Amino acid sequence: MKTVFDLPAVTLPVNGRDARFPVGRVFCVGRNYAEHAREMGADPGREAPFFFSKPASAVWVPDGKVPYPSRTTELHHEAELVVALHRGGRSMTAEAARDCVYGYGVGIDFTRRDLQADAKRQGRPWDTAKGFDASGPVSALVAVDDCGWLEKGAITLTLNGEPRQRGDLSDMIWKVDEIIAELSTYYTLQAGDIIFTGTPAGVGAVNEGDVVLATIDGVGRLEFTMV
Ligand code: MN
Repeated sequence: MKTVFDLPAVTLPVNGRDARFPVGRVFCVGRNYAEHAREMGADPGREAPFFFSKPASAVWVPDGKVPYPSRTTELHHEAELVVALHRGGRSMTAEAARDCVYGYGVGIDFTRRDLQADAKRQGRPWDTAKGFDASGPVSALVAVDDCGWLEKGAITLTLNGEPRQRGDLSDMIWKVDEIIAELSTYYTLQAGDIIFTGTPAGVGAVNEGDVVLATIDGVGRLEFTMV
């Protein structure tokens, strides 16, 4: 019989490799695309992006299905570039931060928008809005050695085949190396950390039975049904 000591770590497959990437911590960037910041009622010219986090257990390797969570009637999709680190450090320069990147994935930062709105109103933490079970589906990773450093590329999300989100990685307010450098001034970053880098405009509700497809040029695709 399995015991708690046999529980597997959360790992992500890597395209073309046998090894799986072990997920440590999960950091997220808020309002890293100007159009999305505006749709959330913020002024990207005055407020810098910011960080929050999810537990590693929120990462979901979809087998074609993602469970619809409890305690919400307004689950929102946020398609995001996910960056996986194989090296860490603290107070790094953007140049040093580049050496930390192992690879990229396509992720969804699922959000209980109704709970988040309540939390914002009451000045309370976002954890129940952001860090719930299966709130972070991530595709197989692609190693940066295979795909190269990403500066641009379309990021899209369709719902039941209808276009919902569309942006370009070049529209990120903080670029990937700047995100890592900034984050490393708050935390000593470690191998295994992954970062959701923010979502472009067009977030909206997902319901049971919906088919979600997120794509990022040069990285891959993530497709599943909400069940
Ligand atoms: Mn997000």
